[in-house]
Amino acid sequence: MNQVELACDVLIIGGGAAGCVAAVEARERAPELSVVVMEKAHIYRSGCLAAGISALNAYLTTGETAESFLRYAIRETIGVVRDDLTLTMARELNAQVKRVEDWGLPIPRDEMGAPLKRGRASIKIFGERIKPILGRRAEASGATILNRVNATGLAVEDGRVVGAFGFGTRDGRFYVVRAKTVLVCTGGAAGLYRPSNPGVAAHRMWYSPFNTGAGLAMGIRAGAEMTSFEFRFIPLRIKDAMAPTGEIAQWLGAKQINARGEAYLEKYYEHLGGKRMLTQDRLYATLMEHRAGRGPCYLDLRGVNPRKLDGTIAAYLSMAPSSAMIMSDEAYYAGHGGEMAPVEITGGEPHVVGGHGLSGFWIDATRRATLPGLYAAGDVAGGTPKKYASGAWAEAVLAVRAMIDEARAQPTAAALDGGMVERERKRVFAPIVQPGPVPPRDFEERLQKVMDEYAGGISVQYGYAEGTLRIARLHVERLEGELEALGATTPYELMHCHEVIDRVEVARTLLAHMSHRRETRWHCYQERLDYPERDDEHFMIFVNSVREPDGSLTIIERPVERATFDVVLPPLADGAVIRQPFATGENGGSDTGDSKE
Ligand SMILES: Cc1cc2nc3c(=O)[nH]c(=O)nc-3n(C[C@H](O)[C@H](O)[C@H](O)COP(=O)(O)OP(=O)(O)OC[C@H]3O[C@@H](n4cnc5c(N)ncnc54)[C@H](O)[C@@H]3O)c2cc1C
Repeated sequence: MNQVELACDVLIIGGGAAGCVAAVEARERAPELSVVVMEKAHIYRSGCLAAGISALNAYLTTGETAESFLRYAIRETIGVVRDDLTLTMARELNAQVKRVEDWGLPIPRDEMGAPLKRGRASIKIFGERIKPILGRRAEASGATILNRVNATGLAVEDGRVVGAFGFGTRDGRFYVVRAKTVLVCTGGAAGLYRPSNPGVAAHRMWYSPFNTGAGLAMGIRAGAEMTSFEFRFIPLRIKDAMAPTGEIAQWLGAKQINARGEAYLEKYYEHLGGKRMLTQDRLYATLMEHRAGRGPCYLDLRGVNPRKLDGTIAAYLSMAPSSAMIMSDEAYYAGHGGEMAPVEITGGEPHVVGGHGLSGFWIDATRRATLPGLYAAGDVAGGTPKKYASGAWAEAVLAVRAMIDEARAQPTAAALDGGMVERERKRVFAPIVQPGPVPPRDFEERLQKVMDEYAGGISVQYGYAEGTLRIARLHVERLEGELEALGATTPYELMHCHEVIDRVEVARTLLAHMSHRRETRWHCYQERLDYPERDDEHFMIFVNSVREPDGSLTIIERPVERATFDVVLPPLADGAVIRQPFATGENGGSDTGDSKE
């Protein structure tokens, strides 16, 4: 448990999609600044991109604009979205995609030279090696990369974030990093709910199982404002593999059918006046078919373009090989004589993730969080959905531009109070210095069972009410009081202990948000059985929260700013700020987006 002390201008916590691009941007824009990346795994294969992806789902394809992207986001979130964040992000998308293409990411192009379109906001890529490409660039940028260092907490002096703490997951060393500015980009939170696959397959989930809400928990503990946790993201995925369906639904155009072979989505469109569905409606409709006794449901691969299908199988082989195996299994063993068969789809467990949904840090247009010195980008940042990988790059770049100005304005990184360092050291190593009898896996299962049964997990078809939330809160508070029963024998197990500690923190905030929104706005994601209707009069708002120093949570309601909205763009090189009015169409504008990922 030796202590390693470092000081830097820019500290990046999490070396995933956002973190790697942030490191490069900081070093290229301000070579005189020192940059440290703290990553719990290894930046070559960490986070959501570790296994590779086959598309970039946030891109302005020909004819699309930042404004049309915003209209799509407004529609998908039924109005509750940050226009400023969405517009600033959307304007950066294509430049950042081009940048990563220049680093070596293969992007197929059409005869006009435009990236091959998978949907209006989505393009094809050959992305099996996307993470090593980003990781090597980050490494080559001259940033100091701390691989296998698990961040545990933010250092806060007089209300300002001045660094962070972590420990080596292999050597058990305690890391104390002082920094002028800190960017959190540790992704969202998986593993809050009982996953769809049991036992040793529990980690076969849609989201990266190693993104356990650490950045969110660190922010909550430090008193940063959080937003929209109740907008849980629930993926509709290929059953068992839990792999993305966009490759089949978008690229192959496969229809969703029920067990009778009927295409069922259309009849659920009606309330939208015949327009396209929202992402959550595809899941909701599937659930409704099950309830009506017409399940299970499938994506129908029969009759799809065989050449495109080969490409799809190749794409799955390089990002989620088990899906390709399941598809072959179905074809050869389910009586289809080698013809492609419908592939079964199902909903996964809920996640707190700002890249697909709305939840995360409450930030301004420069990606500054509510604590001075702190920034957030990617899946950990709230207020703007549909960011995905390319949006995470865009947000990282926006954050770094503001961080550079802030770092340049400070002569040195602040010294840390010895008492604070000691308190965090004790907290971090407690499960290994005074080990309790409960292994982290047991604790995790208890949390997941409570959340599943009382806070709208898979077993209760995502629905919840105040009565069930009350029980969930009681159990989670009890768990919080029992955290000292956790025990670890190795630094790696210690990491698992902190994953559970962080999940409990995130779950507690999530429950408070779920309780506060007394309406049903986003089916399945936020399904209040005791308030089944949408209530625009009271809940066209952001539900935010802050953890007070005594541990209690304060809920803050923030208005949705719309119609004529002043968008503060990040400072230009000369320090000027552009203020630009933006007006959206009536009721959030036109039907421009992609509802399939
Ligand atoms: C299965 C799957 C498929 C996807 N497919 C696509 C797609 O086809 N197209 C697309 O555009 N987007 C896709 N996405 C979304 C996209 O991958 C994410 O939105 C994007 O990676 C988010 O970037 P991020 O940097 O916020 O998080 P990540 O890229 O996940 O990075 C987070 C990083 O933080 C690290 N970290 C976590 N906790 C700690 C800690 N305590 N200390 C230090 N480091 C920590 C992690 O190890 C990781 O490296 C997919 C996501 C998933 C899960």
